[in-house]
Amino acid sequence: MRQLIAGNWKMNGLGSAALAEIAVLRAAAVTRADILICPPATLIARAVWAAKGAVPIGAQDCHAQASGAFTGDISAEMLKDAGAVTVIVGHSERRQLHGESDATVADKARAAWRAGLSAIICVGETEAERIAGHALDVVTRQLEASVPPGATADNTAVAYEPVWAIGTGRTPSDAEIVEMHALVRGRLGAGFRILYGGSVKPANAAAILGLADVDGALVGGASLKASDFLAIVEAARS
Ligand code: PEP
Repeated sequence: MRQLIAGNWKMNGLGSAALAEIAVLRAAAVTRADILICPPATLIARAVWAAKGAVPIGAQDCHAQASGAFTGDISAEMLKDAGAVTVIVGHSERRQLHGESDATVADKARAAWRAGLSAIICVGETEAERIAGHALDVVTRQLEASVPPGATADNTAVAYEPVWAIGTGRTPSDAEIVEMHALVRGRLGAGFRILYGGSVKPANAAAILGLADVDGALVGGASLKASDFLAIVEAARS
């Protein structure tokens, strides 16, 4: 399976400087892996324009409803209208900081499909859950409740992102990643893309992307600079 390197810019990126990073990616004419950039919602339409079809643009979250009295929220239909092709749902920062439950995440995944977007559904245990030996159980429960029936390899990817590895510079051992990805593979089946996320950098990308059942990476901090992101892309399995 061709690997996907997806960048999650989180709440970072303003105007021309951000669009210049997209232009660098466009000019790089990447062939080694599929790529995706998820900028903040304010930049999606301009990023689509700057990418000129060469860099697919995604979103970081959506509301479950198509429209209505939800001040400040953005629907999947609106993201599609802005030119996004996919949306991340259930990122741990949404689960933790916005209290999103597995059921909410599943509703958002269904909303993505309804709008014609694919969904990247994030799962992952906290550090306390891993230390307590519950990581596999936690992710199993999240997969059962966050990935709705109807998920296919075309409309859904899953990102395994241990919460304690996000933005910390720490990563699980190779064996821990392989064990978790095998679990996800066992539940989803062949063909689904399973991404690893959590402190992926140019220095560790080749080792992580070389592991069994790792079909790509969801990259936060290191996606903000096109040169770092491209170095990760170059580390993808060919
Ligand atoms: C993320 O937020 O999805 C992520 C993986 O962040 P980082 O790469 O910065 O750990």
